[in-house]
Amino acid sequence: MNKVEALEELQKTVLSCDLCRLRQGCHKVVFGEGNPKGGIMLIGEGPGQEEDKQGRPFVGRAGQLLDKILEACGFQRSEHVYIANIVKCRPPQNRVPTPEERISCIPYLYKQMEIIEPKILILMGATALQGLIDPKARISKARGQWLKWEGKWVMPTYHPAALLRNPNLKRPTWEDYKKVVAKYREEINPQHYSAHC
Ligand code: SF4
Repeated sequence: MNKVEALEELQKTVLSCDLCRLRQGCHKVVFGEGNPKGGIMLIGEGPGQEEDKQGRPFVGRAGQLLDKILEACGFQRSEHVYIANIVKCRPPQNRVPTPEERISCIPYLYKQMEIIEPKILILMGATALQGLIDPKARISKARGQWLKWEGKWVMPTYHPAALLRNPNLKRPTWEDYKKVVAKYREEINPQHYSAHC
């Protein structure tokens, strides 16, 4: 079974999941999307209102901003990255998922990573950082510094929704993504082109 087929199989399971109470309050389970062979995986917190409507990750305002950042890096969703979240169902009023909800859902993310085998992980925001690496870590301290975890290069950075709330975070976030582009050239494609870095 190739990566695409393995993800399709997993998706069937996830779409019918009701392991935690988030499923009762959401419209659509948001599995994830992108190119599983791209080498980069982006991980956010959970679906918001627009994502819940469409069943796709990062399609609201924060997602549009993320697309702009990726474009500036020379990355496209359909080619270079795969995007998923810590929880696949929208928490009510976009609240932070509880530890119980995260624990219920995170095996799906582990399985996605096992199939995709990304070389570079971008953790967007505190929930992704704390959910995967260290429950006590602070995104403001950890961002911008490479971690090595499970054989992958991991870059914690701010969630794009945080940039919408506080535009002062745009500059440091861009510095983080420039490091990702440099790592992508080192690890995946030395010829990678970006007009901005
Ligand atoms: S959030 Fe995850 S564990 Fe909870 S119901 Fe949705 S898919 Fe299942």
